Amino acid sequence: MIGNLKMIDLISDFIESYESASNLQGLNVYNPENLQIIKTLICDSPKKINQKIEEAQGVQCFWASSSNEYRQDKLKSWSSLCERHKSDLASLLSLEQGKPLSESLIEIDASIKNIKWAADCLDEEYSYETSSHVDKATNVIKYEPIGIVAAITPWNFPSAMITRKVAPALAAGCVVLAKPAEDTPLSALALLALAREAGIDEGIFDVVLLSREGAGVFSKLCFENPNVRLLSFTGSTAVGKTLITESAQNVTKLSLELGGDAPFIVTERANLDKAIDAAFASKFRNAGQTCICANRIYIHEHVYERFKKGFVRRVAQARIGGAFDNEVEIGPLINEQALNRLRKIEEELKGQSISPIYIDFEQEYPDGSSGYFFKPAIYEVSHKCSLINQEIFGPIAFLCRYSDTDDIAALANDTPYGLAAYIYDQNSGEAKALADQLHFGMVGINEIRIADASIPFGGAKHSGIGREGGQDALKYFMNMKYICHA
Ligand code: ADP
Repeated sequence: MIGNLKMIDLISDFIESYESASNLQGLNVYNPENLQIIKTLICDSPKKINQKIEEAQGVQCFWASSSNEYRQDKLKSWSSLCERHKSDLASLLSLEQGKPLSESLIEIDASIKNIKWAADCLDEEYSYETSSHVDKATNVIKYEPIGIVAAITPWNFPSAMITRKVAPALAAGCVVLAKPAEDTPLSALALLALAREAGIDEGIFDVVLLSREGAGVFSKLCFENPNVRLLSFTGSTAVGKTLITESAQNVTKLSLELGGDAPFIVTERANLDKAIDAAFASKFRNAGQTCICANRIYIHEHVYERFKKGFVRRVAQARIGGAFDNEVEIGPLINEQALNRLRKIEEELKGQSISPIYIDFEQEYPDGSSGYFFKPAIYEVSHKCSLINQEIFGPIAFLCRYSDTDDIAALANDTPYGLAAYIYDQNSGEAKALADQLHFGMVGINEIRIADASIPFGGAKHSGIGREGGQDALKYFMNMKYICHA
């Protein structure tokens, strides 16, 4: 399989330069389906990271003062190259991440849209005048690039997360240093290689490689440097909280997209077929490893049994296996920690005498597989279960029966998180009234496809600070300046 991947060839020269340029620690990139090493990279040393920050500093003025058309051109070339290499980018993503190829293709499409969207945002005006409070003066409001941007991305969307941060930052006139997750650095390197081909030169966008143990070094060095003005992070709430503390040093602006605990509410008026399909897709996409996936499914008691039967049937149809098997819907987990974490959750459920109502014991894993596969499981739990608010991040579904319609918003809101929530209800008025009561950054009514370059993605409470994408995608990477011109 690896030999067939043109993208690996395309970026191999590039990877070589990483290997020879640095001399710190090896970083093995594994295929989670069979634990074969795809590539061994070399991590960046602190000295090398500081050099990259200096290179960014060296070109920041040039990039910030370049015309909107210039940056737009570069971004459009980048997106065209991604489009041209779409299937290779998707294969590389599946290889290092494990998600089915069909999902990777969707992610690459979303990544291309992220870049195009950022380029198109440059058609907007970023400066305007208003009448002044001072006689005969004019008020000018301008948005200016914030400075050097650091980006830290997770492994669950190795391409979409890089592009969702890097493209709008570049469009806004900022230079960017991105640190991909240690499990999935190859997609980031492939995007970087294509960015170089598009004329986005060294310093303007670069990638830093670190192992899990050394991951904290990047943010530490960025926060120490007063020229790094924004750190955009997607990952766990625990790491996000550490970054909030560390960012105090130079009052570095943060954009944080953190954990989720999405309630998926099926009311007695839901179209059950649609709700079942959507709950399955939301829960098991990317083997349940998405921050907006349905973490707890609340079903009204009047439709509970019908939903349960249909949901179990749907999960039973799902094939587990490798990313390149067309029939597979659920791939492996990303790594051993993920596997152990889910096993621990199973043990805890057992300890609370909660047994699964469904586990696919029959289904075999791919032949001779030693990968990080985990069989989908469904549990019935009450809202009182101590695990209900834990972000599962894997193919374990919790079904929870509710009876009092007046209480469902309170149950859904009973979590420190506030990223995404879903409501399945065919009564539009009731659904909207419920959505208004939910303390979440994003609510899908009869819809689970809530992530797109065109929408302001982000959460409330412990799920983060700031938004990515949408009409204001570039403004988060800009400082607002007010000039009183008398
Ligand atoms: P997960 O547990 O899902 O891997 P993390 O929040 O730990 O989520 O990781 C998300 C990203 O944050 C990855 O790129 C990872 O390398 C990075 N990271 C992990 N620990 C730290 C840390 N202490 N400081 C900065 N970045 C970190």
